[in-house]
Amino acid sequence: MTRPQIKSMELPELQRQLQQLGQPAFRAGQVFGFLHRGVTSFEEMTNLPKALRQQLAQQYLLTVPQLERKQRSKQDGTVKFLWRLHDGNTVESVLMHYSYGASLCISTQVGCRMGCTFCASTLGGLVRNLQAGEMLDQVLFAQKEEGVRISHIVLMGMGEPLDNYEQVVRFLRLVSHPDGLQVSLRHISLSTCGLVDQIDRLAGEKLPITLSVSLHCPDNEGRSRIMPVNRRYPLEELMRACRDYFRRTGRRISYEYTMIAGVTDAPEQARRLARLLRGQPAHVNLIPLNPVAERHLRGSSRSQIQRFAGILEQAGVTATVRRRLGPDIDASCGQLRQRRMKEEGMQK
Ligand code: SAH
Repeated sequence: MTRPQIKSMELPELQRQLQQLGQPAFRAGQVFGFLHRGVTSFEEMTNLPKALRQQLAQQYLLTVPQLERKQRSKQDGTVKFLWRLHDGNTVESVLMHYSYGASLCISTQVGCRMGCTFCASTLGGLVRNLQAGEMLDQVLFAQKEEGVRISHIVLMGMGEPLDNYEQVVRFLRLVSHPDGLQVSLRHISLSTCGLVDQIDRLAGEKLPITLSVSLHCPDNEGRSRIMPVNRRYPLEELMRACRDYFRRTGRRISYEYTMIAGVTDAPEQARRLARLLRGQPAHVNLIPLNPVAERHLRGSSRSQIQRFAGILEQAGVTATVRRRLGPDIDASCGQLRQRRMKEEGMQK
C-alpha cells in the first residue's frame, strides 16, 4: 500500500487527521503552511515535535519532484521544466513571462487518453492521473527554481483536466487558499477538449476561473477526424454546454483554435466558426500548429492565419493570433517528455 500524499489534502481533512493523532487544533494550520511553502521533508517542519514529524513521515508521502531537465528559450525567456515524480513518471510545466506577471502552464495527467491527432501528449495514451498535490508541486518548485512568484496558472500542459475532475478541482482550491499560495482563481485558466458532462458540473462549482475550450474545427465531420472526443460529444452538445456555462457563471469562454494547414484554416471554416459562436460573448485564440515530429501536419502560413482572423473580425468575433512562446525548446504539450522517453528508449 502506498501512503496517502499529504499535499493533496485540504485543510479540514488535515485537521481531522491530526486530531486523530491527538494533536492540538493549531497543528493542521502549521503543517498546511509548511507544505505550501514547499518544504522537502517533514524534518524541515521545525516547530513540530520530533515524534510527530516521525509519525507523519511514516504515515504520509511528502512528494518532491526532481528536476530532470530545464530548458530556457533564448528568444523569449520561456522556461520548460521536466519533472520526475516519485514513481518515476515525468511531467512538464512551462513558465512564461508576461507584462502582467509570471504564468505557469501545468500538467494534470501523465499522458492523455483523448487521442487528438495533432498533440504529442496523447501519443503513449494515459499513464495515470496526477494528484492535486503533484499539480501544486509544479507551481511550488517552478517558483523555487526561478525565484519568481507565479501569479497566473494555465491548465494547458499534458493531460485533459476534466478527465481528472476531482483532483483538478481540489488543486484549484488548494492553490488559491488564503493560507497557501493565494493564486487568484481569476488568474487561472482551465483548458478542455470538450467533456460536456464535466463542463456542466464545473459550472456548478462557483469557481471564477476562465474556461478555455479547444475547438479547432467548426464542423462535426472535420472535428471528429482530429479530435475523437467529438464523436462522444458533438459540437451541438458542446456549444450548448458552453452557453449554459456562461449563463450560470457570467464568465466569458475563450476558444482555442489551432491553425493546421489544409485541415482547419479554410476561409469557409472561419465563416462557420463565426456562425457557431453567434449569440455568446466569445474570444478566439488562433494558434499556429506547433509541428510534432511524430505527426505529419503543418502549421498554417502567416497570411492564411491573418485572412482567417480577418473573416472572424468582420463577423464580429474577437480573435487574437497567439504568439508562439518557446518554439526553440519543444514548449508544446508533451513534446519534451516525448523526446526524453525516446532518448531513454535508445539507452536501453
Ligand atoms: N486537454 C486540454 C488541455 C491541454 S492542451 C485541451 O485539450 O484543451 C492545451 C492546448 O494546446 C489545447 O488547445 C490543445 O489542443 C493545443 N495543442 C496540442 N497540441 C498542439 C500543437 N502541436 N500545436 C498547437 N496547439 C496544440
